Amino acid sequence: MQDDFNPGFSEIHNNVPVGRKRSRSRSPDRRPTRNFVKLQDGKGSVLIPSLAGGLLTFKQFMEMQHSPIPLSEAQNFYNDYKSKFEQKHLEIFFAEHKSEPWFIEKYDPIVSQKWQEERNLNAKMMQRIFIENVKNNIFQGLKLQDIGSTTDNLSGQPFFGFDPNSLTLFLKTIPTNISRWEILDVLKNCNGFLSLSMSEPLKSQNFARFAWVLFDSEEHCGEGLQVLNGKQVTQDFRLSPILSRTSSSKNIKIQTPSSIENIENDWKLSAQLITALDREKGIYENPLLISLEQFSEISLPEKELQLDYQLLYLRKIHSFCFYCVEEYDDERMLAAKCGIAHVRGKYDKNAKIFIDPKIETRITTSGNIIKYDKDTDEILAKKLKEFEDKYTVQEEENKYRCDLCKKLFRGSEFIKKHLAVRHVEEVNVVIKERMESIMLEKYLTDPGKLTNPVILANDSMKFNDRRRWEPRKTNENYEDLDDPARRNSKRKIVDYSDI
Ligand SMILES: [Zn+2]
Ligand SMILES: [Zn+2]
Repeated sequence: MQDDFNPGFSEIHNNVPVGRKRSRSRSPDRRPTRNFVKLQDGKGSVLIPSLAGGLLTFKQFMEMQHSPIPLSEAQNFYNDYKSKFEQKHLEIFFAEHKSEPWFIEKYDPIVSQKWQEERNLNAKMMQRIFIENVKNNIFQGLKLQDIGSTTDNLSGQPFFGFDPNSLTLFLKTIPTNISRWEILDVLKNCNGFLSLSMSEPLKSQNFARFAWVLFDSEEHCGEGLQVLNGKQVTQDFRLSPILSRTSSSKNIKIQTPSSIENIENDWKLSAQLITALDREKGIYENPLLISLEQFSEISLPEKELQLDYQLLYLRKIHSFCFYCVEEYDDERMLAAKCGIAHVRGKYDKNAKIFIDPKIETRITTSGNIIKYDKDTDEILAKKLKEFEDKYTVQEEENKYRCDLCKKLFRGSEFIKKHLAVRHVEEVNVVIKERMESIMLEKYLTDPGKLTNPVILANDSMKFNDRRRWEPRKTNENYEDLDDPARRNSKRKIVDYSDI
């Protein structure tokens, strides 16, 4: 992959003059372009490395320079190179995955909204059940605090956590070309089917996903196991469910000891968070919440219980962990990532009050979420107008030609209708391009996005073209990083955060 970048995808070096080419290379076609940028004072220039291949460290970047660069400027040039490198690799990842269902479900403005609406409906149903359970005292013995003993019954008291194996079938290795909807279509005919949960794509398994199917009773779960076995989803994919037997996520996370004063803050903040997240999902009333007046009148154990209800609600309805400040698609994912429960520590009178600013940020950003609407998308409207204008050719007065099929019309407004009816495919290309540009934007701004691992230049050279870059051997700091004697048996792959 490192060799075959799509050069048209991102014109990084548009305005940069092309520098000398290396004369030593035996394969001229594969020589990387070398780019020079003038220094601020006009004397000397900076050699900007090719974005193909691996990422150079700052040291390597400096070693490849022909003329000295002031350190203050060098860091800026390096940062610029690094961020362009990163951008380029994100665009490559995007191009590789943009047509896969998991990517579309996540980033396509319309499909992701459809999926969000399903989650909203599910949240509404879960909220009704939760409130009902509170009324019926189902959560008796709830205590989300480090009480020094663990529990075998994951979904019972004191934590009422999520038992990943209860009433659940596991679907292994769902290929990248299978969408959530295709699986749902099969599942929804099963008796007692409650919900489908899909993992993030697994990089180690070629972006395949796992899935879990939740049923309402043991009986239905057993029946599902029989009925779904060998069930055809698409021509080349059949289900082969097994009973879920996860052992890894029975852990309970415990916060460090905290001040008892935190109870009130956490109560207040979690209530605000509930209101914000409820609203996002179309829930406008929540009988669980109480007023400040009510809160101040109740005893400490009652205050703790009220807080615990709210924290449990955040987990079960919004798949949100108050302490991690992370949210997931469903409670199963939350349990897998955070733990079946995440509780406050014992009280410590020396601990200071702590408020995580990320929670406040989440509450504030909640109001800014804008639903995508194709009909009011001005950029799309502009693109469609450009498309219409492009294929509307006026021959003479009251005589217009559709430039796609050459048919003649009396007015340009007829061509507009004609294009919409007769050239749907071409119109869809315009729409698809717009959707893809929104997808790219959503992908780039997603803090939890998947990416390809960054490969450092040293390592990529071992596997690709060694002549892509060589340090200047006159440099006194030169070390042959590619020396076989230094070679690790394992290729080093790092995150950006490690560089
Ligand atoms: Zn957590
Ligand atoms: Zn036409």
